Amino acid sequence: MGETTLKRDLQEVGVSRILEVVRRYWGFDSLRPLQDEAIQAGLEGRDSLVVMPTGGGKSLCYQVPPLLSGRTDVVVSPLISLMHDQVAGLVGNGYPAAALHSNLSRSAQRRTLEQLRAGDCRLLFLSPERLLSPGFTTTLKGCGIGSFAIDEAHCISHWGHDFRPEYRRLSMLKKRFPEASVQAFTATATRRVRDDIVAQLGLREPRILVGDFDRPNLIYRVVPRLDLRSQVGEVLARHKRQAVIVYCITRADTERLASHLQETGYRALAYHAGMTAEERRTAQEAFSRDRIDIIVATVAFGMGIDRSDVRCVIHAAMPKSIEHYQQESGRAGRDGLEAECILFYSPADVLRWESLMQKSSSEADPAVVTATLGMLGEMRRFCAPGGCRHRKLVQYFGQDYGPEDCQACDLCLGEVEDLEDGTVTAQKILSCVARSGERFGVGHTADILLGAKNERVRTLGHDRLSTYGLLESSTRKQIINLIYQLIDQEVLARSDGEYPVLKLNPASWMVMRGERQVWLMPIKGRRVREARFERESWDGVDRTLFDELRKLRLRLAGKRNVPPYLIFSDASLRDMARRRPTTPEEFLRVHGVAERKLADLGEIFLRRIDDYSQQSG
Ligand code: ADP
Repeated sequence: MGETTLKRDLQEVGVSRILEVVRRYWGFDSLRPLQDEAIQAGLEGRDSLVVMPTGGGKSLCYQVPPLLSGRTDVVVSPLISLMHDQVAGLVGNGYPAAALHSNLSRSAQRRTLEQLRAGDCRLLFLSPERLLSPGFTTTLKGCGIGSFAIDEAHCISHWGHDFRPEYRRLSMLKKRFPEASVQAFTATATRRVRDDIVAQLGLREPRILVGDFDRPNLIYRVVPRLDLRSQVGEVLARHKRQAVIVYCITRADTERLASHLQETGYRALAYHAGMTAEERRTAQEAFSRDRIDIIVATVAFGMGIDRSDVRCVIHAAMPKSIEHYQQESGRAGRDGLEAECILFYSPADVLRWESLMQKSSSEADPAVVTATLGMLGEMRRFCAPGGCRHRKLVQYFGQDYGPEDCQACDLCLGEVEDLEDGTVTAQKILSCVARSGERFGVGHTADILLGAKNERVRTLGHDRLSTYGLLESSTRKQIINLIYQLIDQEVLARSDGEYPVLKLNPASWMVMRGERQVWLMPIKGRRVREARFERESWDGVDRTLFDELRKLRLRLAGKRNVPPYLIFSDASLRDMARRRPTTPEEFLRVHGVAERKLADLGEIFLRRIDDYSQQSG
């Protein structure tokens, strides 16, 4: 028997041991890509950097090694709320885990320390401040920590989008615990951040594991923004009583949209950095506990959102980089089930970002300004029609995309109509700008073209212009969208400043003289088609039973005061509603059901399924 065969055999033994505990504690039948490699690195006590997209299953990679080796490991995590829910989830699976943070009572902290000293804790969650606080190092050394897992490791890099100064101090970790290994985990894929993490943490010959960045269960759509409120309404109608995150650019935008949604009867709340810590905590908890369905937020909302059943992420406007888009949209469908990521795009967003960036660029490093503008350009290209959105995203992160057709984006599903020859429309708009003397903004120009009867138009005598009412069969919002498309294509310009006005440029005159054609995006409503993934993931599922089981889960979660996804994920409930188990053995075969869950919840769920089967015959 050759050495390779022996090695392979050992590996197989390793994999089967891993699978055995994964089945026993989590009820999963297989490992996700790279989980095996990351767990092996953890078991060997080797430094590593694990880059996996959100929902890729990073947690399991640091949860399994201490369980198999019987040692105690530490997880460094940036948010207390995140630690709290993770510990609750693990303990619910019968896994000995604990956290130490400032929100715990003294006696609770004492109990955890005792558990730790007795060697009865496999995983301890800590904040970076706590980990490096004076005196605590000695306590930890006494417990013989085997390995440190750094969650959200990109927080250490100021090239990332979530830089946290307290993470910087983690560079001391290797000096204080030279014998322990360090595993860094992140979903941020850029090379610069990756290299920075390795350097800052001082990882020694780390195993670098970079996962596949495609998320086949996400259905991407980019739709021209015409009337945001009614468009958001249409999307929400497709996601009744489901978890939805809406991202807006400014705090004011989030508040306006959240109150509009509340008035329309939705369970929605705003979330932004201008709210007090307490208000933010309440909103986040309401969302994670399923007391509200929709959170309308700025970029401030993100880390620590462990709710795995987010079925839709709406971008009310274009984010400023693909990194942001990937992080934010990536919060959808972490349970692996289908989820929609829809972005309402207007070329006005690009102008808005440019002006926000200009405002903050006075003291910024010119290299950073150029890099930021470059990222904005990439995001804009992502929004343009043509190609496949899955491919564009994956290629941006430097990976290849295999499938010809993803069957899960608006372009591949054939929802996007071809560009139309809009030369005549463009000529009408441009001559309106010329006739009114290049002195007015987008709104007023749209009013003239629409034939609006408002006072400003009348006092200025613009109702007597030959271009008055030239686009009267369109709506005001459609005309505005068309004007922005022209700006986007640079056949029309807009001045800077607080009250920007429309200006003609040499390209505008070429269009007006008929020397240049203009192609425009059609601005009518779009029909949404069902994606293949969506169809398949509902295959054989009794939807009424699924809804019933969700209700039961919500009730139990309320009683136990835990987030519903910690009781069972949507993926488990859907599998239950597909298999309709009748015995404990069958229940154990459901995705995500392990021994502890069977003992704890088997009876009540089996009874509900049985009742349902009897009622529905
Ligand atoms: P990440 O931290 O990478 O965003 P998580 O660790 O939170 O992802 O995992 C995302 C979801 O996938 C969780 O609901 C988790 O239980 C589930 N999951 C992880 N590993 C597996 C697996 N091997 N099989 C099935 N589900 C898994």
